[in-house]
Formats: sequence, C-alpha cells, structure tokens
Amino acid sequence: MKLHEYQSKTIFAKYGIPIPKGRIAATAVEAKHIAEELGGRVVIKSQVLVGGRGKAGGIKVAKSAAEAEQLAQQILTMEIKGLPVRKVLVDEAAAIEHEIYFSITNDRAAKKPVMIASAAGGIDIEEVAAKTPEKIIKVHIDPLLGLRDYQSRDIAAGIDLPREHWREFSRIAAGLWQAYLETDATLAEINPLVITKDKRLVALDGKMMIDDNAMFRHADLNEMRDIDEEEPAETEARKYGLSYIKLDGNIGCMVNGAGLAMTSMDIVKLFGGEPANFLDIGGGAGSDKVSAAMKIILSDANVKAVLFNIFGGITRCDEVARGILVAMDEVKPKVPMVVRLVGTNAEEGRRLLQDAKMITAETLADAAQKAVQAAK
Ligand code: GDP
Ligand code: MN
Repeated sequence: MKLHEYQSKTIFAKYGIPIPKGRIAATAVEAKHIAEELGGRVVIKSQVLVGGRGKAGGIKVAKSAAEAEQLAQQILTMEIKGLPVRKVLVDEAAAIEHEIYFSITNDRAAKKPVMIASAAGGIDIEEVAAKTPEKIIKVHIDPLLGLRDYQSRDIAAGIDLPREHWREFSRIAAGLWQAYLETDATLAEINPLVITKDKRLVALDGKMMIDDNAMFRHADLNEMRDIDEEEPAETEARKYGLSYIKLDGNIGCMVNGAGLAMTSMDIVKLFGGEPANFLDIGGGAGSDKVSAAMKIILSDANVKAVLFNIFGGITRCDEVARGILVAMDEVKPKVPMVVRLVGTNAEEGRRLLQDAKMITAETLADAAQKAVQAAK
C-alpha cells in the first residue's frame, strides 16, 4: 500500500524527522486559509500516488495567500499520470540550499534493508542512478542489529555532508529506520531532504509503501488507504482475500499458490503469451472466492483468454469447478477458457466442467500453449 506524501510526512514527524509546517486542503479556499496561517509563502503540492509531480506541474510555490488560492485552484483541476488531484498539501515554503536523496528499502538480493543516499537529490534521482551510480551511497542494515550510528556517519561522509549537519543527520536516519521498521514498510523515502538556507535539515517530500501482508497489524495505517487511487479490481480482490495484481497482457490467469502462479505466468510467456494478471486464490479457496476471482479477471477488457491452473492439495478441484460454474453463470464470459485441474478431487472437478465448453489440458505446458493459441 502506498501512502500519500502528507501521510508519510505525518509518520516521519512522529519519529522525530523535521517536516515543514503544513496542512491538507481539498479546496482552493481552504488552501488560501492555510497559506494565511503560514504567513503567505507556501508550496502547493498535489497529493497523488505517483512520483514526478514536480515535473508534471503539480508542485508550485506561491508568494502570497492569494496566489496560493489561485495555484491550488489550478492544481486541484489537474490530472497527473491519469490520476485526478483531489487534495493538495499546503506547506510552508522552504528556502533550499541543497537537495539530498535519502531512503530505506528492501534489497531482496541481499536479504536486508538498505539505506540509500545521494548528494544529488531532487527530481532527477533516477537519472543520477542511471548515469552516475557512483553518486549513490548504499549501506545495508542488519535487521537484528538495527541501524548503527557509524553507518549513518558513513553515509554522511559518503555524500560529503558538511560536518555541522552530521549529528542531526544521524538522528533523522535513526528516525527513518524506526519508521520503516515499525510500520512494516517496504519503502521510506525522503526526496528531497534539504539543507535550508538557515542551515536546517528538513524532509520536504515523503513517500512510504507498507507491506500489504503486514496490514493486519496496522489498523491505523489501513485507515490511510486511498481506494480512489487504487486499481478497482485490486480493491475488490482484497475484499475476498485474493492476491491480484493487474498486468498488461491478455491472458487472465487463475492459479492457487503464489509460486505456481508465477510459474504459470512464466510458462505463458515461454509460449509467446503475456499474462493479464497475477492471481493467487490461495489454499483451500471455496467456490465463492473462485467466482469472485473470475469476475475480477474478466473485468479487465484486455483479457482474451483465461487460464486456470489448479493443483489440488488443500484446495479441492471440485470446489474450484463449482466456483467456475457459478461465475460462468453470472458473468457469461465470451472469452475461451483453458482449464487444468490436477490433484484432490480432480476427477470430480473435470466431470462438473464437462458441459461448460472449456478447453481442457493435461499438463501446464499444454494448458499454457492452448491459452496462448486461444487468445489469438
Ligand atoms: P515530486 O516531484 O513528486 O518528487 O515532489 P517534491 O515534493 O519532491 O517536489 C519537487 C521539487 O519541488 C523538489 O525537489 C524541490 O526542488 C521543489 N520544492 C518542493 N517543496 C519546495 C519548497 O518548499 N520550496 C522550494 N523552493 N521548492 C520546493
Ligand atoms: Mn520528491
């Protein structure tokens, strides 16, 4: 789950990271009032769950409350990368001397969180990473030991941070690590962390992503979820406890088990197809879950064929077959369906589907090939 900038910064502040004074507004008039409270010079920041808002014109500095109102009006009617702006953050404008990039994310290859920093922060960090990777400093954090002070100092030295800021930088680094750890984040990013003209360090931007698998223990964070900005099918899937991720291909995939789902997608690709989604119905899914999953897959207009790959262990193939029949009855799909059922109650499952006009397959390779063919 992605958090908005204002939500991320609220969390940062709880962990002692300095953020600008500011508040969220849904109308231009509110933005004007906030600007008045803050003394006029403010920055109006679109709150949408995508990066690169600055370049898209969604971040503007206003010199007066009147200008803040006008700019907020303008930004609140914008769309950024397909997302309409519904709220703006009105922050006290900072006088920036220098912009630093600073984040923590998971390094899957290293099996550890990694703290990343660069003196070349700001809106072109992707370009810095691509063209001058030596300007990016990385330090892995042992999850059992936590972030050590010497590591923060190593980073400060690595980005040539002036000495006078080291103590404060270490404090911010410790706060960012605690925030990352305690919220089960997969990303905690400050870009830019600025040195202001009056020599303070301030987190001007914030971005956090929380591991969806940990949401059950973060009721407070779950309330921050902005379903307006989620793929509707993904929101629907979550309601049924399905792991669904929409992709760009045209072969819908319904599989039980995450590993098997990924394998199925790979095999589809191997035979020249492109999966339309990742979907794991989980172990022991009943027919209601299966029919919900099928409706979700078919809600994607790109889907030209559906591949069912069910390995019945705890999941019973006859239950899956019943779910398919329920969904077929309700949705009346027009696209071809390829089904492979093996394992527990597979015989019974196949028997149930006999009259359902589905293409059957024996092996995964066979199923994938037939699905790719059927999608053409
Ligand atoms: P992003 O483009 O979505 O990453 O949005 P940011 O919040 O990072 O803002 C983009 C850029 O706008 C920053 O890198 C700054 O250069 C600039 N910016 C943001 N806030 C302020 C501010 O308070 N004062 C000034 N002068 N510039 C700002
Ligand atoms: Mn930014």
